[in-house]
Amino acid sequence: VTVAALRETAAGERRVAIVPEVAKKLHASGVEVMLERGSGAAAGFPDEAYEGVTFEDAATVASRADLLWCLQMPEAGRLGDLRKGSVLIGQLQPHRHAEALRQLAAGGITAFALELLPRTTRAQAMDILSSQAAVAGYRAMLIAATHSPKFFPMLTTAAGTIRPSRVLVIGAGVAGLQAIATARRLGAQVEGYDVRSETREQVQSLGAKFLELGVDAAGEGGYARELSADERAAQQQALAEHLTAIDVVVTTAAVPGRPAPRILTRAMVEGMKPGALVVDLAAESGGNCELTQPGEQVDHGGRTIIGPLNLASGAAFHASQMFARNLQHFSSLLVGEDGLHLDFDDELVARSCVAHDGEVRFGAA
Ligand code: NAD
Repeated sequence: VTVAALRETAAGERRVAIVPEVAKKLHASGVEVMLERGSGAAAGFPDEAYEGVTFEDAATVASRADLLWCLQMPEAGRLGDLRKGSVLIGQLQPHRHAEALRQLAAGGITAFALELLPRTTRAQAMDILSSQAAVAGYRAMLIAATHSPKFFPMLTTAAGTIRPSRVLVIGAGVAGLQAIATARRLGAQVEGYDVRSETREQVQSLGAKFLELGVDAAGEGGYARELSADERAAQQQALAEHLTAIDVVVTTAAVPGRPAPRILTRAMVEGMKPGALVVDLAAESGGNCELTQPGEQVDHGGRTIIGPLNLASGAAFHASQMFARNLQHFSSLLVGEDGLHLDFDDELVARSCVAHDGEVRFGAA
């Protein structure tokens, strides 16, 4: 079996799907590993860092792969190089790539979008959403710290005492908890808020205070459900008041399959202190703040709103390492002693598959 990866070509994408550590393990287990030249350079993995890997040009790599690993859907022009019967695995964002899925299906390629994996205990080691969200939460808080005009920690200096920043993290899932942990390490006074009450203990175990707003909206599968109009109004009223004392807000709220919930209104931001900062991790899916512009930094009357995109790519070295391990675990489901073996009775295989046997298996298609 040949496992291969191309250099990622999406704008701003620095990650790579195969890292040296994983390449070495694959090679040791008898797998042939192939990479496009220079694939890992932007993530801090020059070609020389890999052992047991063959380097080729993109077309050769794509045409020789049994399993092609990727971060994002490869360019349309490259998909035609994939061999019939080969397998493409990555964060394929099938809702955005209907045409590419048709092309893959028509070419007889099987494709797996790993973000569709059910988040069961068995899937944890393959959970790209969790691994990349952890990186994003960490990066979001560092962006907040560098853009805030205030120190995070309390300082006692010859020039007097500096009060610590007050940081609020809205949404205490994987990204939010990592953001809280990062703000705590930087010495801020941190609060966390979520509509799922089971997050209270998780927030508190990181040394942060849980903000109680009296709305409980735990949904299915450990996720939140969308709030009713009344719940949303109650949440916003309580939050608006609280925000007047906060220096930095990092928002990470999401509901599966829905646009990001709008939590911070324009008026709420205007009620914050001058110099206050919002970093909106949900910028990619519509934003938790009404003033967020995806990929932009907005000045709104002295308050700053940042909507960063692809935060995980910003820590490309470790984000790649975790992603590659996720890919390796998933691929181990697909490879038997005598080559590729796709078992659609396995729910992890069945639910993440978006193209197989000439058919697109996603959405209405
Ligand atoms: P997510 O990205 O879907 O959402 C982020 C957070 O936003 C969630 O905690 C959600 O409750 C919160 N949220 C939604 N609407 C909100 C609102 N209106 N106001 C405030 N907060 C709101 O979630 P995620 O981080 O991917 O995962 C959520 C949880 O799922 C995790 O914390 C974990 O407990 C669970 N999980 C379990 C496994 C597993 O067991 N294998 C794997 C991954 C995640």
